[in-house]
Amino acid sequence: MKSRGDLTWRMTKFVFVTGGVSSSLGKGLTASSLGRLLKSRGLRVTMCKLDPYINVDPGTMNPGEHGEVFVTDDGGETDLDLGHYERFIDESLSKMSNTTTGAIYSNVIAKERRGDYLGKTVQVIPHVTDEIKDRIRRLGALGADVVIVEIGGTVGDIEIVPFIEAIRQYRRDAGKNNVCYVHLTLVPYLAPSGEQKTKPTQHSVTELRSRGIQPDIIVCRSDQPISDTLKRKISLLCDVPIAAVISAVDAPSIYDIPVTLHEEGLDRIVCETLDIEVDEHPIDLAAWTEVVSRVHSTRRRLRIGVIGKYVSMPDAYLSVAESIRHAGFAHGATTDIEWIDAERVPSDYNAEYLRAFDGIIVPGGFGERGIEGMIATATIARELELPYLGICLGMHVQVIEYARNVLGLLDANSTEFNTSTSAPVIALMADQLDVLDKGGTMRLGAYPAMLKADSIVAQLYGTTVVSERHRHRYEFNDRYREQFELHGLSCCGNSPDGRLVEFVELPGHPFYVGTQAHPEFKSRPDRPHPLFDGLVAAAVNRAEGREPHIISEEALSVSP
Ligand code: GLN
Repeated sequence: MKSRGDLTWRMTKFVFVTGGVSSSLGKGLTASSLGRLLKSRGLRVTMCKLDPYINVDPGTMNPGEHGEVFVTDDGGETDLDLGHYERFIDESLSKMSNTTTGAIYSNVIAKERRGDYLGKTVQVIPHVTDEIKDRIRRLGALGADVVIVEIGGTVGDIEIVPFIEAIRQYRRDAGKNNVCYVHLTLVPYLAPSGEQKTKPTQHSVTELRSRGIQPDIIVCRSDQPISDTLKRKISLLCDVPIAAVISAVDAPSIYDIPVTLHEEGLDRIVCETLDIEVDEHPIDLAAWTEVVSRVHSTRRRLRIGVIGKYVSMPDAYLSVAESIRHAGFAHGATTDIEWIDAERVPSDYNAEYLRAFDGIIVPGGFGERGIEGMIATATIARELELPYLGICLGMHVQVIEYARNVLGLLDANSTEFNTSTSAPVIALMADQLDVLDKGGTMRLGAYPAMLKADSIVAQLYGTTVVSERHRHRYEFNDRYREQFELHGLSCCGNSPDGRLVEFVELPGHPFYVGTQAHPEFKSRPDRPHPLFDGLVAAAVNRAEGREPHIISEEALSVSP
């Protein structure tokens, strides 16, 4: 890549990241870290994930199994890796950045039904592979210098084959110097022999080659650094230069990964493979190293409790956890997150137990399980002046508990949990508008809200017009708004037409804020989201201002 006047400059470059040996090696974080490094070299970077499963998108998947559904501004329900991408490259992505086998096939089949293939036999090659390549190309056409494409799953999976074939063809289509293949593998350490083993890497590369792809770079995940001798061996056996064997040793935090990979030369070798002059694009990692230094120089610890229903799978709340951490960094605090099963509140986790937290979050969720425990949590947080942030469902339970215990509407509920409640304080929009068709679809993606100028949330945001991402069907029921306001719960943020309540807060409480949106999708490591920032600030006050935690023997004996 020479100069901006040069044609080659305008050529978008593509990096394909595949994985081998095992899942969960951190492909998403490796891709995100590379994205950060290339962006720190002044390149415009965008990213995308190709998922080999048959679901059209992860929207219908159980978060307890698959992890969080990450929502983009344009309402895409996407893989949680997009959250890493956004947080690392600091760009808002669109639904174009996530494609699945299901989405590819449904498009191909729709085209076939329309007759677009003009009587041809529709096949995996070329029709499915063309559809995959088309999506990658369209992303490239949006103006990025580099598109990083992560392929979900591991080479050798049955479902991954069309994707591997498509990215193999991509180098032919885009030109040799415009495509770089990065392969992530595991180099396990075998304690009995005291050795790191390269065989799984060799097998994985062999598998990739059998599909026609010779990796340019091999990133080796390991719990100890890979020695030069081992790098030489991998280089020889897998036919990549030694400099292209990158040791990705377990990092103390995910934020250290870009720095580690840079020290190993990953971004340099990617640039060289793609004909991008590194000298013309010197790296400036100052902003990122500032984040890393904050991560490692915290002065205090805070205990934050997350009371939800998918707590056995913390990835189900990945962005919530990251947002808590980001806010912690800004306040010089390490945040110890305790995941609490809402079904066990208050029986196992009572008020005494919860009061030992510096802050509490009830995150989003669907379905009835654990609801009463969340409502009890909201009551405890309100009564004990415990900082509380309610996210979507977490706001619903706040509203229900306030209706029951302050407004005296004992039967108050959301129609999601009780369709015949006499006080539907949370309901489908259709219910509220007396529309007959109750088939409420989800409100998805970014929506604006207007905040009351004198509200806590407006102070936190530093503005009265905000935009947040949504993913829900049920809403605060406008019919009860006046009653809530009269009894002290402020509907402090509303949709521009004034009909939908987007934020609630309780003046006088140290922090009792709920939002209909999902603020966790917009937090960044160096720019915590204002609501998480507010919660953590209140948690710091609580940790500093109150007596040391005294938890009774009884509460302590609870085994989580
Ligand atoms: N289940 C609730 C709804 O559909 C809340 C959803 C959520 O928390 N994202 O409205």
